[in-house]
Amino acid sequence: MTKIIAVTNQKGGVGKTTTSINVAYFLAKAGKKTLLVDFDPQGNATSGLGVDKQNLGATISEVIMRQIDLANIVLPTEYKNLSIAPATPHLANTEVELAQAEGRFIRLREALKKATDYDYIIIDSPPSLSLLTVNGMIAANYVLLPVQAEFYALEGLGQLLESMKLIKKGLNPPLELLGVLLTMMDSRTTLSGQVHAEIKKYFPDKIFKNNIPRNIRLAEAPSHGAPVGAYDRFSKGSRAYKALTKEIIERVER
Ligand code: ATP
Ligand code: MG
Repeated sequence: MTKIIAVTNQKGGVGKTTTSINVAYFLAKAGKKTLLVDFDPQGNATSGLGVDKQNLGATISEVIMRQIDLANIVLPTEYKNLSIAPATPHLANTEVELAQAEGRFIRLREALKKATDYDYIIIDSPPSLSLLTVNGMIAANYVLLPVQAEFYALEGLGQLLESMKLIKKGLNPPLELLGVLLTMMDSRTTLSGQVHAEIKKYFPDKIFKNNIPRNIRLAEAPSHGAPVGAYDRFSKGSRAYKALTKEIIERVER
């Protein structure tokens, strides 16, 4: 069975896309057939994997509008086992159209139903609790929640968990919080340690043992259109995402 993981946090810039790209890459590297679905109009996961957004034909927008099948927009990447369903800024207009459409909450689920030949599908969500994000959580088996190690980290989490609860009660009862991931950790600061302790208090069983350090290589890799594992596999960021991916596989496949 395909495992579908939505990487979600309505807060911007917490590491959703960085996590989506690099976990997808290391899943693929571990031999798992993986599809990364870019479900953010910013299209950062698309460009972060080196896909030129200017010259794309149909994207996830047309899939969501039921004009074309997912299989027809999926692009292979230069990495074995890793494919991407790209997005462009047009997805913002699609979301507006979708707001009036029949079955608007389940369009992504519908689209992914046919993608049965993947071991994992990773959905990169936009920084909002929008219709797109909700579609992601309804399509998914799991939510992976990246949290930036900063003072406002916990703000908005209550709202996100509330949305998850409503979705579980309604359209997607099996939805599960896969884990909470601390990102951009700086072990030299006490603040990072405090946020870690705070998160641990709220999510004692859900916080991942592996967290992601602040690492310049992670920030540089997208400008080379590459996952960090391909850009600099010996960097701290690469090693952290590799270890996290192992932990994810253990959680999902136990
Ligand atoms: P958005 O909400 O806009 O979609 P996001 O949650 O997807 O943002 P990212 O784009 O992954 O967040 O990260 C925000 C910025 O921080 C990017 O410039 C990224 O390269 C950088 N970044 C992410 N993780 C790290 C890290 N561990 N160390 C250093 N820089 C990082
Ligand atoms: Mg992003």
